[in-house]
Amino acid sequence: MQAREIEDIFADILDRAKALDPANTRRWFDRLTLLHLNGGALGIGCPDESAVQYLRDNCKGTFTRAAQQITGHLVTVEFKLIPQKADEKSAHQPHRSSPGLRLHPDYTFDNFVVGPSNRLAHASCIAVSRSLGDTYNPLFVYGNSGLGKTHLLQAACFEAQRKLNGAVIQFLSCEEFVNRFIRAIEEGNLAGFHSQFRTADMLVIDDIQFLREREQSQEEFFHTFNTLYNNGKQIILSADSPPGKIPSLEERLVSRFNWGLVAGIDPPSYETRVAIVQKKAHLRGLSISDEIAQYIAHKVQANIRELEGALTSIYAVATTTGKKITLELAKTALGEKTKSDARHISITDIIEVVTNHFDIRLTDLQSKKRSQSITEPRQICMYLARNLTRHSLEEIGGHLGGRDHTTVMHACSKIADAKDSDPKMNALLDELAKQITQGQPASV
Ligand code: ADP
Ligand code: MG
Repeated sequence: MQAREIEDIFADILDRAKALDPANTRRWFDRLTLLHLNGGALGIGCPDESAVQYLRDNCKGTFTRAAQQITGHLVTVEFKLIPQKADEKSAHQPHRSSPGLRLHPDYTFDNFVVGPSNRLAHASCIAVSRSLGDTYNPLFVYGNSGLGKTHLLQAACFEAQRKLNGAVIQFLSCEEFVNRFIRAIEEGNLAGFHSQFRTADMLVIDDIQFLREREQSQEEFFHTFNTLYNNGKQIILSADSPPGKIPSLEERLVSRFNWGLVAGIDPPSYETRVAIVQKKAHLRGLSISDEIAQYIAHKVQANIRELEGALTSIYAVATTTGKKITLELAKTALGEKTKSDARHISITDIIEVVTNHFDIRLTDLQSKKRSQSITEPRQICMYLARNLTRHSLEEIGGHLGGRDHTTVMHACSKIADAKDSDPKMNALLDELAKQITQGQPASV
């Protein structure tokens, strides 16, 4: 076979693999290269170690099936790292991996959407990863499940690896730390365990709440922490709650976890959720309309993992039915009764929720009154109408006493700024949006 023909076959295999498993497909698959295809073996070159791990863990079966379908033969697939020439290394490529460091290729800072809910955690992860041990030590990131803790911690590892060539980084879940500790005791190899964790330049432990009620592991971690800390090495931890709220955690650990910076992550706002859906779609090499991204962001509010799951369900339905992704299809995929169109939001729905909340009347909103107690609810109505409906600025102004479009625009940007700078306003807008999207349609 000519080299050209083999390259074409490889391109077909890639396309088939993408079609077989859209949920695990990523844009960077386009950077995979053909190493060899002969004697029933397909070698695929990967740009970095995290890509190799990702493909081995998630895509081996899919690529095997794709290769067999395209060639008509039994094929064994192997993924290999191809070292890149220095001048080809993009900003995303680590120079040298710490031995055994396993990171998810999606979990980089580039792929993380920053919003008011996670800004501090994001900024502090960036700061520590660029200068280990010098800024916040330890850095403690906490938040509910599915809000991006693991993503941020791994992004810090990627960044440290990229910026500080040769730094020894250890990333592991607390469960893994405990299991390895137990194994080291069983095997009588505590010295090996100590040298692995107490000599790192950066130790990152995810879900540290797992230490609760594990007294011996807490004792071990206490000494690991002290050694690293005293040597100026970076420690990053995550948990589902702040240090003091983790039950049965020794006081001396709680106090150490508070020595550096404790950064919380809150559930993302509507705007952040829309941006995340778009980012995730982009990462998979897919594009979805704003309307669909907004629909998903309305539908799933508390957990980003579920937001991603919703996107996957929509793509799964689209690929299995061979249909284009429309709002209708998205609704079906997410199990919504489409006929009743229960979630259609009108400006009247918004006005009803806002007037109830502030205990004012519609006529006040529509009047020329400019007192703060009326102006703010009016501006909030405009902002919500702009974000939750597809009405134009003029139409929104029309419903609120015939205001012109520049007034509406000014109101929207004023409330958006307040939302960014004032957590109370952020929470209020979320609460109102929730009532509007989940409540009964208002009677007109
Ligand atoms: P946690 O560790 O807090 O339970 P993860 O870090 O596992 O949450 O995040 C769950 C999913 O949500 C991951 O796929 C992650 O990439 C995604 N995610 C969370 N926050 C963001 C964000 N701000 N931008 C992009 N993706 C995010
Ligand atoms: Mg996690």
